[in-house]
Amino acid sequence: MMASDPVLQLQRVERRFRQGTKTLSILDGADFALRRGEMVALVAPSGAGKSTLLHLAGLLERPDAGDVVLNGQSCGKLSDDARTAIRRNDVGFVYQFHHLLPEFSALENIVLPQLVHGLARQEAEHRATQLLDYMKIAKRAGHRPAELSGGEQQRVAIARAVANAPLVLLADEPTGNLDPVTAGYVFEALEALVRHSGLSALIATHNHELAGRMDRKVTLTDGKIIPA
Ligand code: ADP
Repeated sequence: MMASDPVLQLQRVERRFRQGTKTLSILDGADFALRRGEMVALVAPSGAGKSTLLHLAGLLERPDAGDVVLNGQSCGKLSDDARTAIRRNDVGFVYQFHHLLPEFSALENIVLPQLVHGLARQEAEHRATQLLDYMKIAKRAGHRPAELSGGEQQRVAIARAVANAPLVLLADEPTGNLDPVTAGYVFEALEALVRHSGLSALIATHNHELAGRMDRKVTLTDGKIIPA
């Protein structure tokens, strides 16, 4: 695979939901390509299908038709186990709410996924410390989530999402729960991390100012992904 090849592709993806007697066609022949190192904003109104798109892209759900290609591999016809393995290796998720483990420190929250991944504790701690440093919260390493501010919690959640060096970071309103100033700082840290690590990121956000700082913006219209 060439360096310029997309790391993530959606090919003619369809996704429908039944709501009572109606069928909602959320994605209807949607095409999209995320290139290596690219940061793309997904901006669309609530209910447009942003979360659905991210779940499909991250192999959490299967499309009704079409395919998702991650790192050159067509994932549509793979078994659930194969998809889970690809997701664990190649995809990092950040949500609006941090979902950190409350009984563990910030550092441990970033160490644990790496141990599950097979890393030795020393390496995992080294990387977790580095990531907390990038996110500018190294001083908070020993604190539990409840002892951190909302912005700090999201920084830890972002560090955790990239702990196993995924290819693609998918974020669903990662700063949606924060005040504008904090959102700006957290986004800055996220951006620095993505740029530094050469990650590719698709980030759903309502925040037009933050969206404007990414490489490009896309939106969802009539089930298609189009430039915004
Ligand atoms: P967004 O993230 O842009 O707010 P979503 O992807 O969450 O939008 O939802 C898009 C639409 O699809 C909404 O109308 C929602 O109610 C519907 N939807 C999402 N997931 C399901 C599901 N599992 N079953 C039925 N309807 C769903």
